[in-house]
Amino acid sequence: MTMSRADCDALLAEVRANQAKLAACSGPHSFRPIGEELKLFAKQRCACGGGGVASDQALWYKRGLAHGDRGG
Ligand SMILES: [Zn+2]
Repeated sequence: MTMSRADCDALLAEVRANQAKLAACSGPHSFRPIGEELKLFAKQRCACGGGGVASDQALWYKRGLAHGDRGG
């Protein structure tokens, strides 16, 4: 599969917009699965800022918060 230049530009713009949402969120993020089915690499969206990450990234983010609460 080959992506056109326009498709690459659109994908890059989507990634940058998502990163901007995550950066603008005051946090901590509150990631929730998108859809009813939870899959390892399904995307989750922050309920506060609307930015999305893969489920495994959300899992590690939540673990990081929990460990941070315990002082590392
Ligand atoms: Zn957030």
